[in-house]
Amino acid sequence: MLLRIDRSPQDSVDLPGKSPIIRKVSSATSSVEQVSAKAAVFKSVADLLMPRVCLVCGAMLGDGEEGNCGAERFLCRRCTSDIPFTRFWKLRDNPMSRSFNDLIQKGMGEDVRYVPYGYAAALYFYKDGFREISKALKYRRHFAAGRLFSAMLGDKLLESPLFRDVDLVVPVPLHWTRKLRRGYNQAEVIAKEVAKRLKAPFCAGYVKRSRITHSQTKLGSEERAHNVTDAFSLTAKGRAILRGPCTPKHILICDDVFTTGATAAACALAFINVPAWQAALIHAGHSVRRISVATLAAVER
Ligand SMILES: [Zn+2]
Repeated sequence: MLLRIDRSPQDSVDLPGKSPIIRKVSSATSSVEQVSAKAAVFKSVADLLMPRVCLVCGAMLGDGEEGNCGAERFLCRRCTSDIPFTRFWKLRDNPMSRSFNDLIQKGMGEDVRYVPYGYAAALYFYKDGFREISKALKYRRHFAAGRLFSAMLGDKLLESPLFRDVDLVVPVPLHWTRKLRRGYNQAEVIAKEVAKRLKAPFCAGYVKRSRITHSQTKLGSEERAHNVTDAFSLTAKGRAILRGPCTPKHILICDDVFTTGATAAACALAFINVPAWQAALIHAGHSVRRISVATLAAVER
């Protein structure tokens, strides 16, 4: 590891004939250079203690990758070019949205026709080493990578006419005991970045997980749906916003991974089951209300 600090000779030499303004500019430039030199030293020491590796394949991120922006801050060039993007944000109808809407319809009962189709998109497929991106955020507090890929998801949604009118972004909540144990909710990290990109309000306080659910990871699709049925409910603040004059028209639910859609649909049903909203959903007419979902990753089915 080479620690090298380049200093311009002008940093310390006061050249004759320079005006005071030029001297001031020189001194400002020199302090900026000193700060960036210090940052370079810290970065080199940090790299020495904790080498930067690709989140997906584990390859060392060499000097060639330093200073790169976007996904290449956390992935090697090869994995960056291999990200299995779903491109679901371009499709009104895709496997994820079909599963999400079917579950909502089931939750509302077969005798009620659920009219407005909820959109659904994930940034990449949850497969191979790419699972590690969401795991790094969920289990290893890798907030920098989590924020970067969430912002990328937000940018993709912004590209699509389907998501441009989102006026409320809601993370899937954790039960308060689990949040206390983990210290954070990964869905909030994702939802905040997506909300920033869509310029929509973020609110974590409208829906709560009213009972502890078992982990969904080892359950089949029927068990998953049963496990989260009625697990979510609106808070007083959430009920108030649906009654008020600023009722959202398009709510976007955010989570880390979409498997069967059972969790996202159960969370959506907490809003849909509010009578005034349900009436607006069923008789869509001129005031369409919609609930969609966006996640970092989706299991390919
Ligand atoms: Zn890699």
